[in-house]
Amino acid sequence: SAIPYNPIPSPTPVGPLVDTIKEIDTPSLVVNLDAVKRNLTKLRSWSTSTSVRIRPHYKTHKCPDLAELTLRKFPTKTCPFPGGGADGICVQTLDELSSLTSAITSGWGTTWTSSNHGIVDVLLTNSVVGVRKISRFRSIIEACKGKANVSLLCDDIDNLRNLNELLPHSSFGVFVEVNVGQNRGGITPTPSNLPNILELVKEAGSSYRGLHCYHGLLQHVNNSSDRVSQVMSTSVKSAREVKAYLTSNGVDPGVITGGGTGTYFIEGSANVHTEVQPGSFLLGDTEYGDVEMSKGAPEFEHACWINTGVCSVASTSSCVVVDAGSKAVDLVAGKPSVTDKGDRMGFTGKRDEEVRYSSGGDDHGVLTFEGGRDRPGMGESVRMVPRHIDPNVNLFDWIVVVEEGEKGEMEDGSIKGTWRITGRGVGC
Ligand code: PLP
Ligand code: MN
Repeated sequence: SAIPYNPIPSPTPVGPLVDTIKEIDTPSLVVNLDAVKRNLTKLRSWSTSTSVRIRPHYKTHKCPDLAELTLRKFPTKTCPFPGGGADGICVQTLDELSSLTSAITSGWGTTWTSSNHGIVDVLLTNSVVGVRKISRFRSIIEACKGKANVSLLCDDIDNLRNLNELLPHSSFGVFVEVNVGQNRGGITPTPSNLPNILELVKEAGSSYRGLHCYHGLLQHVNNSSDRVSQVMSTSVKSAREVKAYLTSNGVDPGVITGGGTGTYFIEGSANVHTEVQPGSFLLGDTEYGDVEMSKGAPEFEHACWINTGVCSVASTSSCVVVDAGSKAVDLVAGKPSVTDKGDRMGFTGKRDEEVRYSSGGDDHGVLTFEGGRDRPGMGESVRMVPRHIDPNVNLFDWIVVVEEGEKGEMEDGSIKGTWRITGRGVGC
């Protein structure tokens, strides 16, 4: 059974106290490992068939065990699953980088300890600005030297000179960030700005790795053909222009990376991006559930839910009060959905439209049952899929990992263990 490598108590001791999924303590975050593996297998086979590299994003789950499973390229004695076969991994913040690299150097996570990954290729999809952060970056990359190669983004010549002064030569890789339309970072590739991109590439010298061309705002364009045309006219078009400019100046553009869960296959089939970086595909959420449904047949499954328990049924006859309030449910992107009335664990997007969640404050939620539906009783648990997975995972210290039984129903599922979300936090 799993031995936590941090003293924060887990919500679910595995063993005689908790035998079935229904007994998992609440509120808790539960991940269906079989659905995770199916999602990884789909992305891996897409990558194999297209030869586009995959560098999934750690920001979604911040959990070393899930990162290990994503990066693994072969089965092991303790885990017969062949792994997600990823070529590398992205992180978004220095806290995530530190959480991941300390897991890599200390033998990974809670469960998978025996794998040998060689040197892990990590990309921090952010700039590192100012002496304080650059010093922290330096101590992180020194601590994982020989076990992980770390690259970062840059869109500013003074910042790059600063990095080159404060960090040992060739101790890190540089991706030049191109603004392909999100206006969040990166040099906008207008004709007058292209020389600035070349200047950064030259200043990076042998540390130069490639171009970062990611457009976050297009991931959730629900209409498939609109999404395709917008990606083609922004991230693909800009990446192609910068690539042509660098090539005509005698520079190999290197890796061209971008594309999340909603668009990776668009960038990946346009012959410009050489690498994609989806994150949410691994666990899913209802925002992406809508995008998945627009593909005709959903590709990725929801593999994660918030498990919440009924703690009061007294106040009204159509509602119950549950123990997941705004500390357990991220409400910024919208409300979570209660899963389908069926009790299957592999959840492909069906929602119970007759049950609605509303916040009851910091530590309570209210579920309203429409149309005279039967309500669950005191102590029963209810599964909810978050609207937006990354900030919701970030609220929890632990993931409770469950596996499907032969029938794939809640009753015959089992608890595998509890995994730490070591990268959680606001992310310095
Ligand atoms: N790459 C970058 C730079 C991101 O910021 C994100 C998410 O915000 C992703 C990749 C992953 O996107 P998604 O979770 O939508 O697949
Ligand atoms: Mn997200």
